[in-house]
Amino acid sequence: MDEYLAKIRSGDLKLYALEKSMPADDAVSLRRRYIEEETGTDLSAVGTYSIPIDRVVTRNIENMIGCVQIPLGVAGPLAVKGEYADGKYWLPLATTEGALVASINRGCGAITKAGGAEVRILRDGMTRAPVFAARSVSHAAEVARWAEDNLLLLKVAAEETTNHGELIGLTTYTAGTSVFIRFEFDTKDAMGMNMATIASEAAAHLIEEETGAKLIAVSGNMCCDKKPSAINIIEGRGKTVSAGVFLSDELVASVFKTNSATLAEVNTRKNLTGSARAASLGFNAQAANVIAAMFIACGQDPAHVVEGSNTITTVDMAEGGVYVSVTLPSLQVGTVGGGTSIATQNANLTMLGVAGGAENPGDNAKAFAEIVAAGVLAGELSLLGALGAQHLGKAHRELGRGEK
Ligand code: NAP
Repeated sequence: MDEYLAKIRSGDLKLYALEKSMPADDAVSLRRRYIEEETGTDLSAVGTYSIPIDRVVTRNIENMIGCVQIPLGVAGPLAVKGEYADGKYWLPLATTEGALVASINRGCGAITKAGGAEVRILRDGMTRAPVFAARSVSHAAEVARWAEDNLLLLKVAAEETTNHGELIGLTTYTAGTSVFIRFEFDTKDAMGMNMATIASEAAAHLIEEETGAKLIAVSGNMCCDKKPSAINIIEGRGKTVSAGVFLSDELVASVFKTNSATLAEVNTRKNLTGSARAASLGFNAQAANVIAAMFIACGQDPAHVVEGSNTITTVDMAEGGVYVSVTLPSLQVGTVGGGTSIATQNANLTMLGVAGGAENPGDNAKAFAEIVAAGVLAGELSLLGALGAQHLGKAHRELGRGEK
């Protein structure tokens, strides 16, 4: 190994290329040793891990030196009444945020006691929006019209690149001489960002050939991937999912130590009025907390928490209680591809019964989306309840504070 270290130091061997010369575990260990020496840091803590890394180093990461471990907790059981997920689930939550799992667990208890959260997927389509340069505004209009009139040709070109993906629609936008074609794909059980990008490239080349417009970038930011945006809230991106539950006055009092009217008022003044006053794109209490913890536990792309934070939470006064709902306009999830096959992440998807491709492709990703949405509902209920009962500070003092 010392001989390899000497070669790295002399520049004869590239640090990122060690896997070409030795087994993955040795390459990671040697790279870590080199970085330890370079930085004068003991990195033994990141060198202990249980996941097999042969596939990880070819698919999920470059220049690997080890793993960061994040504690994993469970909340549940959570009763979900979706069209794809129907049953009781233990939610895997990877987080270092003290009090979060306890909070979601309390929300799960309330939902399950109430008979379960009903969940529906209202829309499903992963988007990619290449940007083209046209010669003039009239040419830009022609390019947009050509794309709109030739969806079938574009579909054939796009679908040649994938066995599972389907181009299901497109929307065009222009700004001066820039033309954006927002392609929408059914990516089945994959979150689909790689799949949609590769398919969009093929379709974009056809647009170039047929219209004379120049493809500038396969992603023109009207997709809109991993950025806060109104388009994802209005048009949807990935899965648009709603979850809701009726809670009786008695249940609100017994679980949350507050009352239905207070729950509704906290939601209106905080999640709706407060968010509007802040010009926030998220009208919720803590959707991102639940999505981040479930995404990390289940091998999702954590950067998509940005889109998940678009959630809107409502509390309607109803006879004898309240109807509480969450709507996630842009939830990106997959049960194949990305980080879903890494051993620890895959174990969590397996616990939820959604790992891998479904017999009817797409059903596992939809079931997972329904479970995540029900988890978000649990998190919202619990935090609204804690705020209503003025218990938030107390819970964090007891569960979430650092060293005293
Ligand atoms: P992927 O791992 O690139 O591709 C998914 C693969 O699963 C496809 O090759 C697909 O094959 C196959 N597959 C097998 N069974 C399937 C089923 N039942 N349903 C759907 N596909 C099935 O994953 P991805 O979801 O497209 O992309 C996720 C990754 O993209 C993440 O790692 C994320 O971080 C990354 N990402 C990429 C971009 C980008 O711009 N490229 C942006 C954001 C995130 P076929 O295609 O042949 O059907």
